[in-house]
Amino acid sequence: MVSMEVTACADKYEHTVPNVMYVVNNIPGPGVDIEDFESEYSLGCSCVVKCSDCSCTRGSPNYINGRILDEKLTGPIIECNSHCTCRENCGNRVIQNGPLDCLTVSGVGEKGLGLFTTKLIKKGQFICEYAGEAIGIEEARRRVEANKTGMNYVLVVSEHIGDRIIVTCIDPEYFGNIGRYSNHSCEPNVNLVPVRVEGVVPRLCLFASRDIEINEEITFNYAGGVANSVHDFSDTLCLCGSNNCFGYLPHSSI
Ligand SMILES: [Zn+2]
Ligand SMILES: [Zn+2]
Ligand SMILES: [Zn+2]
Repeated sequence: MVSMEVTACADKYEHTVPNVMYVVNNIPGPGVDIEDFESEYSLGCSCVVKCSDCSCTRGSPNYINGRILDEKLTGPIIECNSHCTCRENCGNRVIQNGPLDCLTVSGVGEKGLGLFTTKLIKKGQFICEYAGEAIGIEEARRRVEANKTGMNYVLVVSEHIGDRIIVTCIDPEYFGNIGRYSNHSCEPNVNLVPVRVEGVVPRLCLFASRDIEINEEITFNYAGGVANSVHDFSDTLCLCGSNNCFGYLPHSSI
């Protein structure tokens, strides 16, 4: 049995909002197999000190000085974990150290709230996770249907790993972290990348796609990101007819 650090240690952004429970990492929700959620994805590497070319990095480094490399933006990324023999500073441990310490939440007019930075963020730096309730695709569809008039936060990411497609749905409406305040932009400054540390379900991680200035809003493309495979459902039916159609067009207006 793996011990999950789901809500064990809070980050500095923990706060109380009506009807929202602050969680540091994803928690399993309806339609997600708890075995899947807790099972091992990586058996770990057997490196001694550094990890640049091993089973965890899959042949080339994911990060240089804590910054994600462009060629790794399409994921999937596996970070070293408790099964690895390398050191804590092996270079392949970034998101597990938690969000940047310079994030704030402020009002942004009609958009409601947004995520901002009080310090310069360099291209490639990890900002925070977009955490929430991990739910199954049917549950995601059901929630979108039931909430047609409201604000919809459900993110659906499909990863093409070999000949498999792994679909992950994260809903931060009732359980979420600081990342839930990041808004959509068609010209974003952040990439969303799936990263795994222990479990099979990836964490959806925000990395700066360029330098981000002090007091700039942090945004990502709800319908872009991982090789154009991230979708925020709108209530517009998709008629593409492909086997992997999510049923709805990505959300396009904010
Ligand atoms: Zn390592
Ligand atoms: Zn290694
Ligand atoms: Zn490792």
